[in-house]
Amino acid sequence: MSAAAPQHCLLCGSGQTTPELTIPGLPLFLHAVEPDVAAEVPRLPFTLGSCATCGHLQQLDAPPEEVVAPIYTRLFGSYQSTARTGIGGLRAQRFLDFLSAAVPGTGRALEVGCFDGWFLSLLQQRGMEVVGCDPSPGADIAARELGVEVRREFFRRGMYPDGAFDLFVARQVFEHVQDAQGFLGLASSALRAGGHLALELPDADLWLGQGVLGSLFHEHVSYFTERVLRTAVERAGFQVVMLRHEHTDLFLLARRQASTAVEKLFIDPEIVRHGRELAAIYRSRLAGQRKAVRRLAAGTRANGGHLYLYGAGVHSSSLVAACGLTAADIDGVVDDGPQSQGKVLPNLERTIAEPGLLDGTTPRDVVIVSGFSFQEEMLARLGRRSIAAQVVTLYPAVRRVEAGAVSASSSSATR
Ligand SMILES: [Zn+2]
Repeated sequence: MSAAAPQHCLLCGSGQTTPELTIPGLPLFLHAVEPDVAAEVPRLPFTLGSCATCGHLQQLDAPPEEVVAPIYTRLFGSYQSTARTGIGGLRAQRFLDFLSAAVPGTGRALEVGCFDGWFLSLLQQRGMEVVGCDPSPGADIAARELGVEVRREFFRRGMYPDGAFDLFVARQVFEHVQDAQGFLGLASSALRAGGHLALELPDADLWLGQGVLGSLFHEHVSYFTERVLRTAVERAGFQVVMLRHEHTDLFLLARRQASTAVEKLFIDPEIVRHGRELAAIYRSRLAGQRKAVRRLAAGTRANGGHLYLYGAGVHSSSLVAACGLTAADIDGVVDDGPQSQGKVLPNLERTIAEPGLLDGTTPRDVVIVSGFSFQEEMLARLGRRSIAAQVVTLYPAVRRVEAGAVSASSSSATR
C-alpha cells in the first residue's frame, strides 16, 4: 500500500479516507504472553481513519495478512477458553438470550471464528445442528471437549454449500475482516432465504466515545458504529430485525431477504459527520490521557515513589503504547488472574506479579487501575487489600480515587 495515495474504504470502496490519529508503536498482539514470545510481537504504527463517503471508521495501512495471521493461528492460543475457565460464559449467554427471542431453536447453525465452540454448544443444547470453523488452537478444544464439529481453518468462499444454514453467527469476528462487505455476501450465500445473520462486535460508539485506551487493535480493521453497521447489513440484502447496544458490544440480528442483490450504498451526511466527530472525541481524549499519565509518572518518580499497573491485559498494553511509557516508568504490573502471572505484556519488560506485590507500597507510590469495563470491580478488589499507595483510575478521566469506593465517579478529581 502506497503511503502517498489514500487507502480505499474497506466498506464502500471510495478513495476518500482521511487519517484521524496514529499511535506510533502499538504491539501487534496486546494480551499477556510468555516471556520468550514477547520479542516476537512487533510494535507497529496504528492509524485510525474515517471515510468521507460512508462514515466508516477503519484502520489505515493495516499490516499485511502474513504479519497478522500468526495472531490467529498461534497467539490466540493464550486466550481464555470458556469451555475450560468459564470466562466469557456470561457474554455468550447474553447473546444467546438476544437471539432466542427471534430465532427458532431448530435448524442448522454455522459459526465462523467460533474459537473453542462454546457458543455452538449452547445452540446445540437448544436443539440446533451446529458446525463451525476457526484457525486457532481453540478449534481442537471444541472437537475434543464439547463434541462440536469445528474445522481448524479460516472461513472462506466455497467452504460450505450455498443456502445450507438457518443461522450464521459471527461473534467478535466482523471487525477483524478485511473485506467487510464481501464477508456479508458470504454470510448471505451460506444462508437460506429467511435465514438469520447474528453479529456480536465491539461498540465503537462506546469504546471510542469513552476514550478507552484499549479500543484499537491491529487485528481489528473496522470500528463499527451502530449506524454504519445497519447501513452495511441492509446494503448486503438483509433486513435488520434487532440491533442493540449491549454492555460494551453491538448485537445485531438480521433476516436474509429473498433477493440479495447488493443495493447502491445510501450516503447519509449525518452518518459521515458522526464518524468524524467520534474520531475527534477519541483523539482529544487520548491526548488528554497521555498528558495526564505522563505527568503522573514523572511526578511519582520525582517524589521517590513507584508506579504500578493493576490489570495485565489489553488495556495496560495500550496504556503503555499510547502514553509512550517504558519499564523505566513502570515498576511493576500485577494481575489477579493466575494465568497471567509469570507472563509479560508484549511492550513492557516486567514480569506480571500477583497483587500481593502491592501490600508493601507506601503513600508515595501510585497504582493505576487500567481496566475499563471492570474498573469498579477492580477498585473493589484493591479496596479489600490494605495497600498504602495512591490509586488512580483512567475513566471517565485520569484521577485519584479511594480504593474500594463503590463508584469511581463519586470520588474527587485530583486535577
Ligand atoms: Zn466508505
